[in-house]
Amino acid sequence: MPEGTPGALRAIWREVCPRCRSGPIYRTSLWRGFLNMHERCPHCGMKFEREQGYFVGAMYISYLLSIPPGLVIVLLLWRISGWPFDTVMVGAFFVYLPLVPFVTRFARVVWMYLDRHFDP
Ligand SMILES: [Zn+2]
Repeated sequence: MPEGTPGALRAIWREVCPRCRSGPIYRTSLWRGFLNMHERCPHCGMKFEREQGYFVGAMYISYLLSIPPGLVIVLLLWRISGWPFDTVMVGAFFVYLPLVPFVTRFARVVWMYLDRHFDP
C-alpha cells in the first residue's frame, strides 16, 4: 500500500475501498440513498459484492453493532419512563429505528474489511 494510505479504522470510517483505501464505496451520502454502492471501486476496480448474497454476512455485523446503542436506549427509557419492561422494549425499538440506515451502511463496510482481512 502506498505511503499516506489511511489505517483500516480511518478507512472504514471514511467508507473507502478495503483494497486501495482510496475509492469511495458509496455513490452518495447516507442522506441521499443509503445503500447506493459502486459496483466496483472507482480507483482500483475491485468488485465490492464478491458473490451473490455476499452482504448477508453484514447482517451479523449489523446485529453486533446494534447491541450497545440498543442497550443504552433500553436502560435510559426504562430509567426515565418508569414503564413496564415490555413497553420499554417496544419503545426502544422505535427510538432505535432511525439509526438502522446508518448501522446497515456502516456494517457493510466493516464486513468488507473483515472479509478481505481473512480472505484477501
Ligand atoms: Zn479500490
